[in-house]
Amino acid sequence: MTASDKPGVSRRTFVRASAAGLALAATARPLPAAARASTARAAAIPYVGAGSNTAVRPFQLGEVRLNAGLLQEKRDRMKAFLRAFDERRFLMLFNDQAGRPNPPGLQLPGGWENGGLLSGHWAGHYLSALAQAYADQGEQVFKDKLDWMVDELAACQAAITARMDTPGGGNEPEEPVIGRVEGRFGRGLRLNGGSGAEHLRLPQEAVSQLTDFTIATWVNLATAQTWSRVFDFGQSTTVNMFLTARSGAAGNPPRFAITVGGSGQEQQITGPSAVPAGEWVHLAVTLAGGVGTLYVNGSAVATNPGMTLDPTSLGVPGNIWIGRSQYGDPLLDATIDEFHIFDRALGAAEVQSLTTSAAGSTGGGNIAWYRFDEEGGSSALDSSPNGRDAGIVPVTQGGGGLWVPTHPGYLGAIPEDAVIRLGPPRFAVYGSNLDTNVWAPWYTQHKIMRGLLDAYSLTGNERARDVVVRMAEWAHLALTVGDKNHPQYQGPLTRSDLNLMWDTYIAGEYGGANEVFPEIYALTGDERHLETAKLFDNRESLFGACVENRDILVVTDPAGLGRRRPARLHVNQHVPNFVGYLRIFEQGGGQDYLRAAENFFGMVVPHRMFSHGGTGGNYPGSNNNLEMFQNRDNIANALAQSGAETCSVYNVSKLARNLFFHTQDPAYVDYYERAVLNQIAGSRADTATTGNPQVTYFQPVAPGASRSYGNTGTCCGGTGLENHTKYQDTVYFRSADGSALWVNLFVPSTVTWAKKSFTVTQETSFPRESGTKLRVDGSGRLDIKLRVPAWARNGFTVLVNGTKAPVGAAKPGTYVTLRRTWRRGDVVEVSMPFGIRIERALDRPDTQSVMWGPLLMPIVGDPGGGGYRELSLYRYLKRDGDYARAAITPAGTSPAGDPLFTTHGFTLRPWYVGDTQPHSAYFRRVEPRIVFGSIDSGVPNVKRDDGLPKYDVPVSGIPSPGTDGLTFLDVVWDQAPFATHGAFVSTVARTAGEFVRAGRLTEAQKDAVVAAATSARRELTPEP
Ligand SMILES: [Zn+2]
Repeated sequence: MTASDKPGVSRRTFVRASAAGLALAATARPLPAAARASTARAAAIPYVGAGSNTAVRPFQLGEVRLNAGLLQEKRDRMKAFLRAFDERRFLMLFNDQAGRPNPPGLQLPGGWENGGLLSGHWAGHYLSALAQAYADQGEQVFKDKLDWMVDELAACQAAITARMDTPGGGNEPEEPVIGRVEGRFGRGLRLNGGSGAEHLRLPQEAVSQLTDFTIATWVNLATAQTWSRVFDFGQSTTVNMFLTARSGAAGNPPRFAITVGGSGQEQQITGPSAVPAGEWVHLAVTLAGGVGTLYVNGSAVATNPGMTLDPTSLGVPGNIWIGRSQYGDPLLDATIDEFHIFDRALGAAEVQSLTTSAAGSTGGGNIAWYRFDEEGGSSALDSSPNGRDAGIVPVTQGGGGLWVPTHPGYLGAIPEDAVIRLGPPRFAVYGSNLDTNVWAPWYTQHKIMRGLLDAYSLTGNERARDVVVRMAEWAHLALTVGDKNHPQYQGPLTRSDLNLMWDTYIAGEYGGANEVFPEIYALTGDERHLETAKLFDNRESLFGACVENRDILVVTDPAGLGRRRPARLHVNQHVPNFVGYLRIFEQGGGQDYLRAAENFFGMVVPHRMFSHGGTGGNYPGSNNNLEMFQNRDNIANALAQSGAETCSVYNVSKLARNLFFHTQDPAYVDYYERAVLNQIAGSRADTATTGNPQVTYFQPVAPGASRSYGNTGTCCGGTGLENHTKYQDTVYFRSADGSALWVNLFVPSTVTWAKKSFTVTQETSFPRESGTKLRVDGSGRLDIKLRVPAWARNGFTVLVNGTKAPVGAAKPGTYVTLRRTWRRGDVVEVSMPFGIRIERALDRPDTQSVMWGPLLMPIVGDPGGGGYRELSLYRYLKRDGDYARAAITPAGTSPAGDPLFTTHGFTLRPWYVGDTQPHSAYFRRVEPRIVFGSIDSGVPNVKRDDGLPKYDVPVSGIPSPGTDGLTFLDVVWDQAPFATHGAFVSTVARTAGEFVRAGRLTEAQKDAVVAAATSARRELTPEP
């Protein structure tokens, strides 16, 4: 048990504990026995991962240890979750596919690890997290869990492959026959009444981003059963929203309810009287603001004006069902028809109109519309433009045999067919029909393979290596020979087939699958694996464009770029592809792979980066999916209420780290630090809860937005397990030739470079305070390269044993080199005072974030109404331009020890603080007049024409460029500090001259401005 596991230990205590711990560390704290064993084992394994053959290389996780501080605290909270989770739950779905029994009484992990088409992904993340957690400090509990899981997965893999050799063993399940019946308009779908249909699963996007909404449908109850659900969307019995036609309350009235705290905290709308069975009844629920209304047959029958929850409160609901209850109530025994979902509350007349025709006056549900007019089959087609087909789950037949694999070596929590149907001849698309759709099958394969590789490389589990090599052999067959047992099989996959697959929205999301095969090639020398990695090249659109540095993340004509690519690419579908391209490059794949990755990164950072490091969100005119890339340079107009998926920052930062190995461009580490200290650290709640991972999905940067934590079984819940168990991976790097130690990040930590007999310990409270001290335990020649962060504009000085080191004027955004023959006990002190910086959005310079050194400092609270906090700050500045002097001033520390600031009565605190308080990452700068201290020139603070915004694709609702450049005062103060008042006045005069020439100021206004500046000597003189 480590300090942070003890309840009630505050951050402040950690800092104190840290000092004690550091003193120990400085005298070479011995590693626990288990950690020594793990380090020794891991050292014997050839390292084939990121940067394995580059000039600058990583240390293995076990060679760097975090000491007490912010990141260790976040890590230990995640370790507590990993420890508490019953790993047997992860095996249940794998056992089902393998035909192996499960112990009674266990529950599936939940979320998307629930038997749906993404199942298995979370198990893979858990393997990686266990391996990382064990590599860190060698706690045996993580190794025990990991080894057990690997043994069981190996048995599942063997059992599945063995079915290929059993004569007559295993029967393909019959394709279910699901019929349609007469509906209210055209055909309808009979649930649980002989049609073969049991319930429906709807895709995630049909619900997860709704606030106001309407859900309307026809239902014809076959029996007067109570509590059966017309629909039930949610995660569990705790978090859900449902509609029942007959509740079990007195009189069996219809009821809508939504809750995030179980049945005891439901916000309900209950009708007055029971809905009859045996006839068509139209039911609708609307939510507008906080007002919910229930309609029966077109008439409003009940309202609840106090609704505070909406579908976004459900987080990421994994169970989006028609006809099935989270509670296991009886399945709906009824016929349904015309099921609409709208992203707004329909008016009473519109609801009424739905009772007289299929679409009424509405045009049909604009989020989804299931008409059930198909003749049969197990998909309910979406008649909205969104293609959100639902899957019809057949009535369980029982007794079906186990499927027989097409190729040996498959391992998964879903049938092999749910992976290979992505390819020809079926080219399955994303959806929730378990028999015909796919959901990122190669993404899931990647997670499982990555987990096994981590189990091998970080903890020395040899069986994991065997299993993953067999999986790789299966993957090669699946992506070359393909679906050879299918009746329409046409032969091996072609390049064109692969291009089509990888361009398909979500279905073709393969994560970083192409990163594992080059590693397996490096381990085995088997050329097939490098070939497999290249099969993932997305050559029809994105790969080629990135080689040529053409930014096609958002396009107006998707048809011109690929047969299936959408107009906006999905962030997390594509970012990890480029990490894989770098792995291929490292194994001799060719220069294009490096170039594509460098160029792609440049399209995201800074052109689509928010100040917390995240990316992805909506922009005006495009509001259908927050996981997509926003338009290039679209920051201020993409500050969506949600957006900036946490998986995306996991992958963009990973890409930055990988690029640094090849380029040593300090800008990549500047980005990495921003991502880790802001969005990633802020993605873990500061709670002791172990019931779920307590991590974020989206981290919205809209004014007054808040974060929510949880994410069992989601993508972000998976990358979240990894984020917080690998904080030490980029703190130090080493040169391949052993000549240099790179100190990239300032983090309390110890690196042990065994080959060089060097141990270096950083004593620091960074990022709560600036500055760090390095204690060197080792002797001999070595270059220590210290990163000078791009934000370090208030100086960067280095003392070695108390004497100023000859590093010159250290330039922000570089590394300085300390070249010397070190002696045991040498001490390096680095000073780099934080300052307040204002960062402006690229497209709207008046939309700004406050940074304190590397930290984003959001303004706590909700301005309300979706508006921004408006701040005027220039009148507080002195000649030195230091905002911290009077405009945004230090306000001590929080009880937890975090730096606080205040401005205009508002509090600012670091983004990394993990709670649910509303806050604003951006504020609006309002500086209407040219003022110098309290002296007002009387002249408006006009804006320059900077041709903004510079979006590459027109954005509806945004005026044409030319109205939104820097203001006069922006241009002047960007040149601070000023050594003398004279220098200040001449800058004002020169700038005013430029504005006169540009037609923005008159000569008379210029004179007034210069006169005001001249008279402001006392106003602008900094107090000593
Ligand atoms: Zn995610």
